[in-house]
Amino acid sequence: MTKQKWVLGNWKMNGRLAANQALLSQLSQIQEHEHVAVGVAVPSVYISSALQAAAPTLVGAEDVSLYANDGAYTGEVSAAMLADVGAQFVLIGHSERRQYFAEDEAVLAQKYANAVAAGVLPVLCVGETLAEREAGQAEAVVAKQLNLLQAATLLKQTVLVAYEPVWAIGTGVVASIEQIAQMHAFIQQHVLSLLNNDASIRLLYGGSVNADNCAAIFAVEHVDGALVGGASLKYDSFAQIITAAT
Ligand code: PGA
Repeated sequence: MTKQKWVLGNWKMNGRLAANQALLSQLSQIQEHEHVAVGVAVPSVYISSALQAAAPTLVGAEDVSLYANDGAYTGEVSAAMLADVGAQFVLIGHSERRQYFAEDEAVLAQKYANAVAAGVLPVLCVGETLAEREAGQAEAVVAKQLNLLQAATLLKQTVLVAYEPVWAIGTGVVASIEQIAQMHAFIQQHVLSLLNNDASIRLLYGGSVNADNCAAIFAVEHVDGALVGGASLKYDSFAQIITAAT
């Protein structure tokens, strides 16, 4: 799964069986591209049905349990369960998880490790809040969020990171090209140093990506694709973003 470009949708808590199948069957008509991986992160109850309709689109989860082993953890879905039903990737540390479910670095490091152990590709989401950016802390915050990748040192696999400034998610306010370029260069260099230059890194930008702004974003150095929320729920906009990446 070391494609050059990645375009991943994040459905969040949206979707119903019939609408999902309609969207995925449209997506499945898009010809698979040699260099571009396309995927959708869906609510875990829909992973199995999505997998039946999605190929060649990858299907992933939006979250995974902190707990690795089966047991008395009511409501939880383990990484092994995600692997069992065929999930190909999982978002780790989306800002909505950090914000609404108080997921901290220790929890996310464990989730990341669980995904790796189960063979489900983790996509680490990082990004600063507006207050942190205004305080000049954006890079420091992101660096701290990236530190859990140190645990991935032993892995010879692609490391996927999505930079999603919190203030750009679902707001229609996209980061400027300059802000994206600066942060992606920083992340690239920081991850390389964490992993002793021994990794293939793919950096996705996320936050109000749409059919109109994606081409300019994809042209930025160290932008290897996008994590798309709202615009991934509609075929037309998501398909245009995929096309722009190819
Ligand atoms: P958005 O969401 O594209 O709707 O801003 C992105 C995300 O949360 O991954």
